[in-house]
Amino acid sequence: MLSYSVENFGCRAARADGEAVSDRLRAAGLYEGEPSAAEVVVVNTCSVTAEADRAARAFIRRTHRLNPAARIVVTGCYAQRAPEELAALDGVAAVVGNSHKALAPEIILGLVQGRTDETLKGHGFSRAAGAPETDAALAAEGKLVNLESLLSSPAQAPIWADDRFAHSFLEEAQVVPGVQTRPNLKIQEGCGNRCTFCVIPQTRGPSKSLPAASVLRQVEGFVAAGGNELVLSGINLGRWGRDLECTGRQTLAVLVREIFTRTSLNRLRLSSIEPMDWDAELIGLMAEFGGTRLARHAHLPLQSGSDAVLRRMHRRYRPWHYIEKVKALVQAGGAELTLGADVMVGFPGESEAEFEETMALVRALPFGYLHLFPFSPRPATPGWELHVARPVPAEAVAKRMAALRALAVEKSNTHRGCFVGRELEAITLHTTGELEARGRSAALTENFLPVELEGRLEANRLVRVRVTGLNAEGTLEAAMTDAVQAQYAATAISV
Ligand code: SF4
Repeated sequence: MLSYSVENFGCRAARADGEAVSDRLRAAGLYEGEPSAAEVVVVNTCSVTAEADRAARAFIRRTHRLNPAARIVVTGCYAQRAPEELAALDGVAAVVGNSHKALAPEIILGLVQGRTDETLKGHGFSRAAGAPETDAALAAEGKLVNLESLLSSPAQAPIWADDRFAHSFLEEAQVVPGVQTRPNLKIQEGCGNRCTFCVIPQTRGPSKSLPAASVLRQVEGFVAAGGNELVLSGINLGRWGRDLECTGRQTLAVLVREIFTRTSLNRLRLSSIEPMDWDAELIGLMAEFGGTRLARHAHLPLQSGSDAVLRRMHRRYRPWHYIEKVKALVQAGGAELTLGADVMVGFPGESEAEFEETMALVRALPFGYLHLFPFSPRPATPGWELHVARPVPAEAVAKRMAALRALAVEKSNTHRGCFVGRELEAITLHTTGELEARGRSAALTENFLPVELEGRLEANRLVRVRVTGLNAEGTLEAAMTDAVQAQYAATAISV
């Protein structure tokens, strides 16, 4: 039996893709092993920063050095953005861009079973060793972006990547509570926005949604497998449904209501949603179900608190829009709502005064946590040109990052500190050996606060906890007071 390993880089959505590939390889009879010994190593890359690219290349080089016989298959955003660059690395056996991600398991199986050329032909491409068969029409159609380089260098690893993204949605196998107690269900792929710093529209194509019937089937399957908390995720989750051609209105709010009406899922969490996609209906669901079936947790990417910087970024909101959305959400979810945001530092031309506007906005809003990123110029984005024209010096970026980091810690401790002495609902998680040795268990509250629980509890239990303190690492300490008996009725599903 052959073994494989999948190494994931990047965001939750990318992780979900990697897990879907892994599930399919397992279903085909391969078993999961270590990258240092596996016959096939899948490297699921990210390309959101230059650092992400570097990390993927370093992993490939290390894997080839430790395991020279491994067939390394590279997929994900970097594989889509610069496939030739990756195909040229030693040990790489194939590159599968996001445009062909849904075919990745089949391509990998073809490769290990020595059926590479058949697999290529099956999808309209062919490359007999040293004797290219692919007709020029395919190249003219732009079906394979680097067709010429592929044909002119038969020794180079084959590449599957184009700009049509016809096979970009990789629907996951049934999501179950397993290694991850609270798995992601990726229901949306790609993005049609054009934020000037972002490479994702190039690497993942336009927005695509998983049909509602498939989402409901997945949720019901998750519940049947004993799952309690599910995280809906996507690249631009708030755009879910807009591309679906069917009767009736298809929006994320409609879908969430359907999940609550037609399944018995105990807790649903929404991952990142762009500020302007928090419409009145979605915020209304937070008021109706927040704290019971909908986690009181909202992540709204902010990026900058400066109107001028947001304009240069081509973001679709202004600081006052953002503030309005946050106020409405806090009113709907209550002070227990945990608010999170991504903030970018050092966008081209960011002045000290513009950065101070970001600091002021962050200070003014009740953030529970922040994800901070220094700007990283990505090739072929407008941000690259802006960076060439008006770069922010590295020392200024480092100084601003440090100031925001300190503010983020302060905000997080203030938010978490409010819950000391109070009771919250939580779900138990898989506990690390270190925590277990101290007789404690890991858990996450319904409103997204990590807690260390007294006593040893298995993962995936819904519990009620009393928060007893906040430790030096910023984690809440708590004791279980009760088990939660959440039972929600589902109407019959015929999907
Ligand atoms: S909304 Fe903007 S930042 Fe987010 S994926 Fe789309 S283009 Fe990128």
